[in-house]
Amino acid sequence: MGSTAAVVTAALVPTCAAAWLVWGATGDPSDQGRDRAVPESVAALPSGRMSAPARGTSDAKAPMSTKPLAGRVVVLDPGHNPTNNRHTSAIARKVDIGTARKECDTTGTATNAGYPEASYTLDVSRRVRKILAARGATVKFTQDGNRAYGPCIDERARIGNNAKAAAVVSVHADGSAAGNRGFHVILPASVHKGVADTRAITKPSRALGIALRDHFKKATGTKPSNYIGGGTGLDVRNDLGGLNLSRVPKVFIECGNMRDPKDAALVTSAAWRQKAAQGIADGITAYLEGRG
Ligand code: ZN
Repeated sequence: MGSTAAVVTAALVPTCAAAWLVWGATGDPSDQGRDRAVPESVAALPSGRMSAPARGTSDAKAPMSTKPLAGRVVVLDPGHNPTNNRHTSAIARKVDIGTARKECDTTGTATNAGYPEASYTLDVSRRVRKILAARGATVKFTQDGNRAYGPCIDERARIGNNAKAAAVVSVHADGSAAGNRGFHVILPASVHKGVADTRAITKPSRALGIALRDHFKKATGTKPSNYIGGGTGLDVRNDLGGLNLSRVPKVFIECGNMRDPKDAALVTSAAWRQKAAQGIADGITAYLEGRG
């Protein structure tokens, strides 16, 4: 692979893929084998962003595809908190979300066998962080199992805003009736009331949500919800503080219905949670790279 890297580095020019095509077309015919290999390596690159070394450098250790999300900030919001249930009065405090006053936080749901949503959300979020960090993103959490309770939904939104996040994803799983299955992504409605103002984020949040839906579906092989969103896998809400108070693109994902036995079997499987994390990470990546 050393010689391939040398070819890539030597021929690297600022216009990248387009230049490859020109270079390939005018290259020495005696070198066709190597020329043919070039478009394949270019095709494997994430579109849009490039982190190529400057012309003239010989830093073969920094191939252009390793850190496509370098410099991007992503906030992950693991829904609820595993120890919220020990602080019921603290999380019951009401906070202002513009359209209403709502509980600071809730305990979340659980499977019938007792696997808590809050454990699920933390586990999946940590798996997502690993994937995104490997792609160069700066990943921040609203909580990492390091707080007694919460944070409250208004603080969760503030954490994303203060981080000036390029994207925020709040990770959840639903607690609906058995037979209701599948995942859905919740998008912010356009709200302008009191402290809520989502007008500037509805469009980018929708793009983020669609990318998340598509990649989650692909990575997990599971279907969009059969009980919310009419099969689109998308829902729009104006009653979630985490969305109403966000000033940066943000969506929630409800990864499945923990109260349905078949969905419960998925969320309690570490292998499936890895797929879920892959789908979320790939959706965020696609959105950040402008691939929708
Ligand atoms: Zn939840």
